[in-house]
Amino acid sequence: MDKNCIFCKIVNKEIETEFLFESENLVVFKDINPQAPVHILIVPKQHIRSINDIEKKDSEILAEMLFTAKKIALDHNINKTGYKLQYNVEKGGGQEIFHLHMHLIGGFR
Ligand code: AMP
Repeated sequence: MDKNCIFCKIVNKEIETEFLFESENLVVFKDINPQAPVHILIVPKQHIRSINDIEKKDSEILAEMLFTAKKIALDHNINKTGYKLQYNVEKGGGQEIFHLHMHLIGGFR
């Protein structure tokens, strides 16, 4: 946990946020500033700064993020129409919150 990290505060329920899904390793919630009809964030509970910081020991969490994205897409009925999964990495990659997260973006017509 990083005490200045907004996503750590969400994970620890210091900032009230409705979770669409929660497991031992992850939380899932809607993006506060959606860029598409469906814009959901899949966030590991562990504070990892970005994809640059993942390690082999994080493999299980990273796989769970993908399987969760698949499930959330199905739950939102966008699995057939399609969606994007996106990691922004560091400032030049558009990352604004330095706690690893996957964007699930879809629902376009
Ligand atoms: P990134 O640019 O990849 O770091 O994405 C961070 C995302 O977090 C942005 O799309 C923000 O809209 C979103 N965000 C920031 N604060 C919150 C919050 N409190 N609840 C939900 N989403 C948030």
